[in-house]
Amino acid sequence: RETPAPMPDDNPGELEECCFAGIREDGRATLMGYCSDGGYGALTRAVREGSPAGVIEVVEASGLAGRGGAGFPTGRKWRAVAEAPGGPKTIVCNADEGEPGCFKDRVLMDYDPHAVIEGMALAAFATGATRGFIYLRYEYPHTERILEDAILDARDAGLLGQRILGSDFSFELYVRRGAGAYICGEETSLLNSLEGKHPFPRNKPPYPVTHGFEDLPTVVNNVETLASVPPILAKGADWYRGLGLGDHAGTKIISLSGDVQRPGNYEVPIGLPLDTLLNDWAGGPLEGRTFQAVTMAGLSGGFLGKFDDVTLDEPCLRARGSFLGAGGIMVFDDRRDMVDLARQAMAFFAHESCGKCFPCRIGTQRLTERLAGEAGPADADEWKREVADIGTTMAAVSACGLGIAAPLITQSLLRDFPDAVDANLEARKS
Ligand code: NAD
Ligand code: SF4
Repeated sequence: RETPAPMPDDNPGELEECCFAGIREDGRATLMGYCSDGGYGALTRAVREGSPAGVIEVVEASGLAGRGGAGFPTGRKWRAVAEAPGGPKTIVCNADEGEPGCFKDRVLMDYDPHAVIEGMALAAFATGATRGFIYLRYEYPHTERILEDAILDARDAGLLGQRILGSDFSFELYVRRGAGAYICGEETSLLNSLEGKHPFPRNKPPYPVTHGFEDLPTVVNNVETLASVPPILAKGADWYRGLGLGDHAGTKIISLSGDVQRPGNYEVPIGLPLDTLLNDWAGGPLEGRTFQAVTMAGLSGGFLGKFDDVTLDEPCLRARGSFLGAGGIMVFDDRRDMVDLARQAMAFFAHESCGKCFPCRIGTQRLTERLAGEAGPADADEWKREVADIGTTMAAVSACGLGIAAPLITQSLLRDFPDAVDANLEARKS
């Protein structure tokens, strides 16, 4: 895990205009390389000529929404923190990229660390925050060194720390490492972990915008969200909005992996047909194979078995019982056993369930056992009813996103792969 995460050598779908166009330039990860392409220009202009309210207005007008998965409007979040009483206020970069099949935040931090740092400094300027943390996934030790070096360089150049660029604005930034728990990507678990507490999710509301780190107003944004902010401020809200297709604003990085010719990270306009990504950009299925299934939102959006007409945007995917989320898409071809894939996915959620609430703690275990053929009724209709019932209960009453999303695995299996389920149940009888 010491080498940088993979990027496609030559992305044939490369957009003429995109948010992270500069990421492939040599030396981009250095302060000099970043600045040579206009880096820290947005922060400099904001601090010298702009205002916090002006920054928030541009981010709001751009339509930028949380790229960690939930899609909450970024400008609205920043405004809520700016207007919240009390302080010191904090900016937290959620870099605990734990979703299976998601590796885009790692690439952004490895290749474009100053974009993340500039995005955090702009968030701090906009909201009045004075301290920030990058909460980094434990499994990214190489990235930690890149971030620490970039922070040191930015501080030496007067772009972080006290009296930034000679102004009254001060912002100290630190890196903190997680310890390998998926649940710490949930923002309130992350905050508890950052405070040195057991990382159970907190009840929401209140939201971190008013009761975040140390119970004080806090912005928690994903890496990609923050890295999108400098280009938005440099090129304008209309430019960013216009990158999306149709009514959709902006772009999204998709981590594409599995049984496909050209896996890697792809920046796509929101609203791009999935078929274009899979076949035109990523080269289609492997030789002699056909696509059988894709996952959405890493694993959290479950499987899709019919996806010819799917576009990569939340309205389309929600209507199909899934969601784009953090943008991980895993591809499985006709060789794969869908019931066993579902078992592996559910075993992951069972392992990572924090155990705070019983629908998720017990439900993920019960579903894993049923998918493994270790429990549950022998009759196929009974089995399906029971699996669906456990999933419905989990989705309705689990306390956080993990327990709500996990049953999408079994729901989508029953919906899109009934023949595979029947064949699996039949085979168990022999
Ligand atoms: P959420 O909808 O509860 O919240 C989204 C964000 O909006 C949070 O920051 C929340 O604080 C804020 N928010 C919501 N309502 C608010 C309000 N009224 N006022 C102020 N702020 C408000 O979603 P969530 O549970 O934080 O995140 C779920 C998502 O995380 C899923 O979509 C999933 O795809 C994604 N996820 C990502 C990863 C990853 O590795 N990137 C891993 C697991 C899950
Ligand atoms: Fe923990 Fe699962 Fe409950 Fe979330 S849903 S609080 S992960 S037990």
